[in-house]
Amino acid sequence: MAEGHPLARSGDELTLPEFVNWPTFPFEGDIRVKRLEEPVEVEPPRAGEGGVDCRQCAAPDEEYIWVDERWRVRALNKPSGLPAVVVLETRSHYDLGDLSNLLAAELGVLIVRLERAIRSLDNIARVHVNRWGDGSAHLDVFFLARPFGRLQLRGTFLTMWDDILPPISERQWRENLAFIAAYLAEYGGRALAEPPPLESWTL
Ligand SMILES: [Zn+2]
Repeated sequence: MAEGHPLARSGDELTLPEFVNWPTFPFEGDIRVKRLEEPVEVEPPRAGEGGVDCRQCAAPDEEYIWVDERWRVRALNKPSGLPAVVVLETRSHYDLGDLSNLLAAELGVLIVRLERAIRSLDNIARVHVNRWGDGSAHLDVFFLARPFGRLQLRGTFLTMWDDILPPISERQWRENLAFIAAYLAEYGGRALAEPPPLESWTL
């Protein structure tokens, strides 16, 4: 933030933005904006910066639901509130701005394919696609399935709702991941997520 910016003055209380009144905002009651801290001189390194001790680079294919020579797709490590949350990663250590034209073109194709795969699950209205890049130095693009009819989950607060809603069942989670992996494998690569075993399908 530039020096002299109105928000840089200490002691100022920031006013609440209009979105706290949106029906999609997950919270109610008295809230206030946190005090904005001074900007740091040097930002801390992200996880795996420069490819050193990078968790994604070190992860075996078995931790993913689908892989090919240049890309891998993983799930979160346990069910969350939304029907599906998956993460697209490069196999090698790149950030978004490092991608060659080939990888950039493939990224575009894979984003569209993953959107179609996730939207093909039952009762999915929309698929949100996010890349933040603040936590990990290794490119990861998040896909979040927004359930059909849940108008409160529309828009920018979906990641919060994913943590707020009770997790979906393990069986449903595995079934959805297996569907997405199989959908991707129709076009190449290898599906690693298997549908849940038959005995666990009983409700
Ligand atoms: Zn890496």
